[in-house]
Amino acid sequence: MTPISKIELISMNKRANLLILGACLVLGSYLFFLILSNFQAQSSLLEVSLKRICLDLDKRSTSLEYYFSERKHDLSFIAGSREVSAYFVNKSLGMSEAYGLKVNLFVINQLLSKTIENKTVQGDSIYERLFLIDLDEQVLVDTNLKIDDELIPTGLFDQFNRSADEAQLVIYEADNRLRMVLSAPCVVKGEKVGEVVAVLQLDSLMNNFVDIGGINDFNRFDLVYNNRWLIRSEQMDANPDLLKMIGKLASDLPLDRFEKVDFIRDQAISNSFVVVRKPISQVPLNLLAWTEEKTVSGSLTLWQHLLGPGLLIIILLTSVIKIIRFKTSNIILQTRIDEATKQQKELKSKNNQLNEEMEHRLRAEGELELQRTLSVRSDRLRSLGEMAAGIAHELSQPLTGVRGMAELIPLICSKQRAPEQQKIVDCSQVIVEQSDRMVHIIDHVRLFAREAGKVETSTADLNDVVKSATSLITAQFKSHDIELKLELTEKELSVQINPFSVEEVVLNLLTNARDALECKQSQECLNYKSIITICSAVREENNQLLGCLHVSDNGNGIPSTVADKMFDPFFTTKDPDKGTGLGLSISKSIVEEMGGTISFVTQGGEGSTFTICFPLVSER
Ligand code: ADP
Repeated sequence: MTPISKIELISMNKRANLLILGACLVLGSYLFFLILSNFQAQSSLLEVSLKRICLDLDKRSTSLEYYFSERKHDLSFIAGSREVSAYFVNKSLGMSEAYGLKVNLFVINQLLSKTIENKTVQGDSIYERLFLIDLDEQVLVDTNLKIDDELIPTGLFDQFNRSADEAQLVIYEADNRLRMVLSAPCVVKGEKVGEVVAVLQLDSLMNNFVDIGGINDFNRFDLVYNNRWLIRSEQMDANPDLLKMIGKLASDLPLDRFEKVDFIRDQAISNSFVVVRKPISQVPLNLLAWTEEKTVSGSLTLWQHLLGPGLLIIILLTSVIKIIRFKTSNIILQTRIDEATKQQKELKSKNNQLNEEMEHRLRAEGELELQRTLSVRSDRLRSLGEMAAGIAHELSQPLTGVRGMAELIPLICSKQRAPEQQKIVDCSQVIVEQSDRMVHIIDHVRLFAREAGKVETSTADLNDVVKSATSLITAQFKSHDIELKLELTEKELSVQINPFSVEEVVLNLLTNARDALECKQSQECLNYKSIITICSAVREENNQLLGCLHVSDNGNGIPSTVADKMFDPFFTTKDPDKGTGLGLSISKSIVEEMGGTISFVTQGGEGSTFTICFPLVSER
C-alpha cells in the first residue's frame, strides 16, 4: 500500500473539514428557516384563532340574543295570557277578592310556577323568581312567597320604564348583587294594568350561553354590563385590578377588533391580554372574551424565537471549528509523531550502522595493531638477522683463536719434555678471554631481542649505543668491502632513551646505508671506496642541547620520488626477500616516541646522511 504523504493528508483533511462546515451551514440555515416559518405559522395561527374567537363570540351573542328575545316572549305571553287578563277583567268588574280574584291569582301563580318549572336549559331553571304586580307596584303573585317568604329585592320594581309598552330587560344592583330582571306589561282593553316581572337565573345563563366551552384559546368569556361583570366565567383567580382594567374596555373597546391590554402586576411582572368585545343587541350587555396573549401566540417573541436557533447555530459552528482545529492539530501532531518515529528509526539504523562501522574499525585497528606488532617484530627479526650475520663473523674470530689455542696445548704437551707451563697458561688465558667475548656477544643479542621495543627508558650514552650496534656488524661490513668509520665525541651524550630500541634504529640506518653502497658497488665505479660514517655530535636547537647521530654513506643518494614516500610503511625499492619497507617508518615512530627527531639530507650521486637527535639530559 502506498503511504499517504503529509500534504495529501492535510488536503484530505481540508476537504473533510469543508464538507463538515458546509453540512453544518446547511443544517443551521435549515433550522433557522424552520423556526422562522414556525414563527410565521404561529402568527397566522393566532390570526386564525382570533377569527375563530370572533365567530365564536358571534355565535354566543346570537344565542344570547335569542335567549333574551325568548325570555321577553315568555313574559309577554304570560302578561297577555288568559289567566292574567281574567284577573284584571274580573277585578275591573268588581269581583270580590276573597273568592273570585283569589282563584284567579292562584291560577296565575300556578302558571308562573309552571313556567319556572318548565323553562329550563339543560336542567337549569331559567327563571329565579316571577312576579305579577299591579300599577301600584303591589305584588299580586310571587312564586317564592309560598316557599320561604323570601324578601323582594330592594328597588326591584323601580327599575322599569313605566310607560314602556313592551318587554324590557333591566340590570341593577341590590343587596350587593347584580340582578337581571325582565318585565312585560299586562294590557287589558288597550290599557296597561300591571306587569309580569321575572328575575333571571344568572348561573344557568353563564353555564349554558356564556361559558359553554368549545374554544380553548380564550379561556374567559364574560358578560359585562356597564363596566361591571354580570357573569364571570373564571372568578376564582381573577385579579380585581385586572378585571377593572379589562372591564373598562367593555364599553370602550372598538367592535370586531382585538385589543391588547398590558397588565403590570406588582410593578414587575407584565402580562399581556387579548380582549375582544361583542355587544348583544336589544340588551345593554357586552360579551367579552379575553385571555393571556401567550396562550394564543405562545410566550416567545420573534427575537426569542430566533435566539434559540441563533444560539444553536453559534454553538454548532463553534463546535465544528473546535473539532476542525482539534482534528487539524491532531493530524499535524500525528504527522510530526510519524516523522519523529521515522527519524528515530533512521537514527537507530544509522546508529547501528555506526556501531557496526566502529566495531569494524576497532577490529581493523586491532588487526592493524597486530599487523604493526607483527611488522615491528619482523623488522626486529630482520635486525636480528643482520646481527646474526655479524655474530657469525664476530664469533668465528674468537672461535678460531680458541681452536688454535686448543690445538697448541696438545702440541706443547707432546714434545716429551716438561711442558712449558707459561705457554699453556697463556693459551688458557686466550681461550677464557675469547670465550668471554663470545658470551658477551651472545648476551647482547639476547638482551637486544628482549629489551628492544619496550617503552621504558633510561639514561644512556648515544656513543655506547653506536658502539654496541657496530660491534656486531663491523666484521660483516668488512667482508662486504665497506669501511665503517666511527667519529664519536669524547664527551658522553646522555639522553633518555631505550638504548636497545635506538640500537635497532642505528642498525636499520646502517643496513640501508650498506644496501645503498652495494648498489653503487655493482655499478663498477672506478676508484670507488664504500664508506659509512657514524658521527656523534651536540647540536643546539631552540635553546635546547641535542645529542645527535649522523649516519652517512657515499652511495647514489635518494631520488626525490623515493624521498617523498620513504617513511611510509611498506614502501621499499628493494627485492621482497631483502626489504620490507618498514625500517624507516618503525625507526621514525621509535625515535619520536622517545621525544627525538629523525631527518635526512641527500645529494644525487654523492650519498645521504640520516640524523637522529634526542634532547640531552641536563647534568645535575
Ligand atoms: P627497506 O630497507 O626494507 O626497503 P626502509 O624503510 O628502511 O625499507 O627504506 C625504504 C627505502 O628508502 C629503501 O627501499 C630505499 O630505497 C630508500 N633508502 C633508505 N635509506 C637509503 C640510503 N641511505 N640511500 C638510498 N636510499 C635509501
